[in-house]
Amino acid sequence: MPRIIKIGRSNKNTIIVDIEHRKISREHAEIIKIGEEEYLIKDLNSTHGTFVNDNRIKQTQLTKDCKLQLADFEIDIDSLLLKIDSVDFNKQIEYTKILKQKEILAKFDKLENIYEQYKKDKRKIERGGGLKKTGLRAVLALIPFIGNAIGIMLGHTIDVRKQLDDLNEQFKIDYVCPICYKFFGFIEPFENIKKRGYCGRGRCNAKWNTH
Ligand SMILES: [Zn+2]
Repeated sequence: MPRIIKIGRSNKNTIIVDIEHRKISREHAEIIKIGEEEYLIKDLNSTHGTFVNDNRIKQTQLTKDCKLQLADFEIDIDSLLLKIDSVDFNKQIEYTKILKQKEILAKFDKLENIYEQYKKDKRKIERGGGLKKTGLRAVLALIPFIGNAIGIMLGHTIDVRKQLDDLNEQFKIDYVCPICYKFFGFIEPFENIKKRGYCGRGRCNAKWNTH
């Protein structure tokens, strides 16, 4: 009888993906062992796809030197095939064990830049707003129709606020855990998250501290 491993977010799978990892479907893919060192991979109509060597597949052969991705995450083929070959094959295992750790780390490392850039941009907008306000105040004294000047000033304040809002909205999308995509918040510096070494949001298992 061929051995089959199913991967997905549903707890019926052999490899249960973190429920918070939303890009993985409930039943995402299955791997079938069809012979000694011979495997097939089948996509189970997942939303974000299964990729072998960068091609989205329905079903194809899987070998140890393939590059395998579920949605946008690369899978550690060795761990995966080790699992299908193992004696306690029926035991469910944690998804993070078959995820390429370097993949999580690479995504996590990008957050440092995102955080630094956010702080820079925020300062720039605030400072820019401050400078222009001073300028406007000077102009205000020269304009006889004060109503107009106030209009300009209000418009400008709204503009600064809008820029900050846009920046914050984008930050909420970018400064997120690479697995569960939950926002790390405005106040937690990258350093803290790095030191902590894990996500800790909801039931997310993502780790980036491998020591
Ligand atoms: Zn997370």
